[in-house]
Amino acid sequence: MTLIEEAKKGVISDFVKKAAEYEGVEAEKLIRLISHGYVVLPKNVRREDVKPRAIGMLTSTKVNANVGTSADYINVEEEIEKAIVAQKAGADAVMDLSSGGDLDAIRKKIMDVVKVPFGTVPIYQAARDCRRVVDMGEDDFIKAVEKHAKDGVDFMTIHSGVNWVSIERLKRSKRLLGVVSRGGAIIIGWMLHNEKENPYYKDFDYLLEILKEYDVTISLGDAYRPGCIHDAGDRAKYTEFIMLGELVERCREAGVQCMVEGPGHVPLDQIETSVRAMKSVTDNAPLYLLGPLVTDIAAGYDHIAAAIGAAIAGMAGADFICYVTPSEHLALPSVEDVREGVIAAKIAAHAIDLIKEGQRERARKRDYEMSLARKNLDWERQFQLSIDPEKAREIHSKRRSESEACSMCGDLCAIKLVKEAFERD
Ligand code: SF4
Repeated sequence: MTLIEEAKKGVISDFVKKAAEYEGVEAEKLIRLISHGYVVLPKNVRREDVKPRAIGMLTSTKVNANVGTSADYINVEEEIEKAIVAQKAGADAVMDLSSGGDLDAIRKKIMDVVKVPFGTVPIYQAARDCRRVVDMGEDDFIKAVEKHAKDGVDFMTIHSGVNWVSIERLKRSKRLLGVVSRGGAIIIGWMLHNEKENPYYKDFDYLLEILKEYDVTISLGDAYRPGCIHDAGDRAKYTEFIMLGELVERCREAGVQCMVEGPGHVPLDQIETSVRAMKSVTDNAPLYLLGPLVTDIAAGYDHIAAAIGAAIAGMAGADFICYVTPSEHLALPSVEDVREGVIAAKIAAHAIDLIKEGQRERARKRDYEMSLARKNLDWERQFQLSIDPEKAREIHSKRRSESEACSMCGDLCAIKLVKEAFERD
């Protein structure tokens, strides 16, 4: 039985109990949310030691970090280090998006160091294993999924919302950047060349059978995510939303956990509308967002542009944030870029949790304790409570004050002066 099938029967496993404890939510409540598909708890039956990370309604906002080689830059040890650093910085999931080198060996090596849910995009490997992308056979699409499932991958991005209907909408759109999703571009290119329907759409039931066998969570990919502000909110994207909504229903009926992916680049005033529309047409499926980036011109600082968008999206209902690093749009990220990307997304996630139903009290307690530590000029406690304790400690100690305050105001520390004034009074 898959987790969602167990949930429908009210079975509460130790894994679910641990997830509930981690979230500060009652196990009975969590299992009900999983049974409806409002929360997913990714774990492949073949993986033993995955940390439970529930994604969706009432649970804390989660962060994913992407790692992986590219055709131009293959350094497996560095990708392993990125996966370790990302988890240390607080990533709740890691995806291997490798597209260069021995993909099977790389996936296994990265998976060995990942203790949180592990994800992939199998179409990358299907495309890489063929001489030309357009030469892939229909079977290759599905075989790649099966291979990753057998290897123990917990969740997979699969672009099943691409079909002839959505391609027609795309042809009629006035997009500047067309399709910027790598997986989406591969499938659309393949379909147009071969004049065939997307096997991930056409054979969706068969795909679900494979995912069900290994209890893999499907992340319905966002092939039409806008790649720039100009392209945000067009009909191609909304057509895909509707397709994904229908596929969510089929996943739930088949006993397969699913979440839905969303845009992309979106201006501030469209984020709430687009998140609410996605939540509505997918009956509150957990929503996994890349960003959204709120401007196109933050090159070198796209992790900040994405964190701003993620915070607004989270306020409207997004559940899972895919990090963006300072290298976005420029190069494969470095280890330090990965760390910074995770931290930026964690800040957005915590800001969301400060107002999220089910998480508000816990999140606010941490901020309250931080304020108390500030009031007491208790530096060690402030470091402990920070999202990035190492950086906080480093900055504080680099320019130390002679007084118990920090070097920003020294003896004129407002907190200290007011405290002393009240004590004298
Ligand atoms: S010195 Fe200034 S910045 Fe530092 S703790 Fe006191 S009031 Fe805050």
